[in-house]
Amino acid sequence: MTTTPDQTLAAEQTFESFGLDPRILRALTDQGYTKPTPIQAQAIPVVLLGKDVMGAAQTGTGKTAGFALPIIQRLLPLSNASASPARHPVRALMLTPTRELADQVYDNVARYAQHTDLRSTVVFGGVDMNPQTDALRRGVEILVATPGRLLDHVQQKSVNLSQVQMLVLDEADRMLDMGFLPDLQRIINLLPAQRQTLLFSATFSPEIKKLASSYLKQPVTIEVARSNSTNENVRQMVYQVPDGHKQAAVVHLLKQRADAQQSKQCIVFVNSKIGCSRLARHLEREGINAAAIHGDKTQTERMQTLDGFKNGTIDALVATDVAARGLDIPAMPCVINFDLPFSAEDYVHRIGRTGRAGASGDALSIYVPGNDDRLLADIEKLIKRSVPRGTLEGFDPTGERARQEDGDRRRQRTETRRPREAGNGNGGEEEPTSRRRRTEPNGRQAFRPSDDPFFSRPYEPTGNYTPAPKTEDQLAAALTRGRQAPKRPVAALLGGVPRKS
Ligand code: AMP
Repeated sequence: MTTTPDQTLAAEQTFESFGLDPRILRALTDQGYTKPTPIQAQAIPVVLLGKDVMGAAQTGTGKTAGFALPIIQRLLPLSNASASPARHPVRALMLTPTRELADQVYDNVARYAQHTDLRSTVVFGGVDMNPQTDALRRGVEILVATPGRLLDHVQQKSVNLSQVQMLVLDEADRMLDMGFLPDLQRIINLLPAQRQTLLFSATFSPEIKKLASSYLKQPVTIEVARSNSTNENVRQMVYQVPDGHKQAAVVHLLKQRADAQQSKQCIVFVNSKIGCSRLARHLEREGINAAAIHGDKTQTERMQTLDGFKNGTIDALVATDVAARGLDIPAMPCVINFDLPFSAEDYVHRIGRTGRAGASGDALSIYVPGNDDRLLADIEKLIKRSVPRGTLEGFDPTGERARQEDGDRRRQRTETRRPREAGNGNGGEEEPTSRRRRTEPNGRQAFRPSDDPFFSRPYEPTGNYTPAPKTEDQLAAALTRGRQAPKRPVAALLGGVPRKS
């Protein structure tokens, strides 16, 4: 591994050399941190000087401590043990795009500030507001929040932001992707103009630069990895597999890692929620401890899954991008892209889950030649390098068996007229029943009939429908029926992301 200038800087510096308060240093010792990470080495002195910062750093680089430690240090002179809420106004506001990241940032802040009198709390959507309201009313100096829920509290007047001196926009690119810009603007308008603003983003897109020019004053730019680049400790590989063999390829990769005594833990990224659940079920059927985490899961389910993954009862965490944002899983050894992401920037985020804090990791992608060419080209353009191609034994997309199976599969699709899952056509991947029963290209009988009978049977019209009107009379009758028709609940299966936290 080559040593970068960032690493040299970090190696020379200690937390003591920043002049951090002994109470903070004690908390760092409790955490087992011995020396600053490169982003910390760069960010801490700048933030301590009160300057605005535009930081290009992914989750996993230690950026949370990079902004939280100097913020705690700067707030210490104002800390006090008074019981009066008025003596504990919100002075530092940290905004994150997702509940998980908010929870994780708060967890870190609370640990770093544990030996001080500074109070902190977190507010995010999807859970009861009342305990959050109580905590806010008791007074906190450091508030971690997702934008939507914070505005709910502002509306309820349970929080006052007029004394905020420091604002952190964490994973700002994702907040913009998730449509939080109007919420951010509303929140920032409630803050004093005289403040320090720190913006962190994995990538510096034109939109991020615009946001920074609107809200940051002469920011110091800190880049640990080049913007839009990927961590050098991460070994990247794309495996070419025939269309329709992606689930089997993921099973193969996971079992291969287990056989090679590599850590079984892995995050598998899928583009759609439905594809995510389905892949998790498939892995379970293949004897792999897997669980899905996506935006339709309740907050409690998400937390339980995450806990299960952290304590090792779950080996494969199958996740969508939104759900996986900011998950703090130290030294994640492997990330698999079941689907290549639609946005190349998500690739950078995804593989940022591995190779953290100097550890090495594998970022493996499943790639269907022909289907995924454009997505792969976009990724390689963004990261400015080509990702090595590999083939998995038995999954050669150019192999005779693959061609034969592909032909069978196309025929089967026409015969059964089974409705294909809505979504991206990859994440919602479902194999025809016939192919599940056949020998896999790697020689295993890996596929079994689906557990879900809906997907195994051919499409049958319910008969519960009215033919399209062909004459004027039929049209008039249909319109009358429509007016009289009772209101029925309508359900939609849509991908995408929740607008509010
Ligand atoms: P972050 O990028 O802030 O999400 O941090 C990623 C992980 O690195 C977290 O588990 C932190 O607890 C850990 N971490 C942060 N700073 C250090 C450090 N200086 N030494 C060791 N681990 C650290």
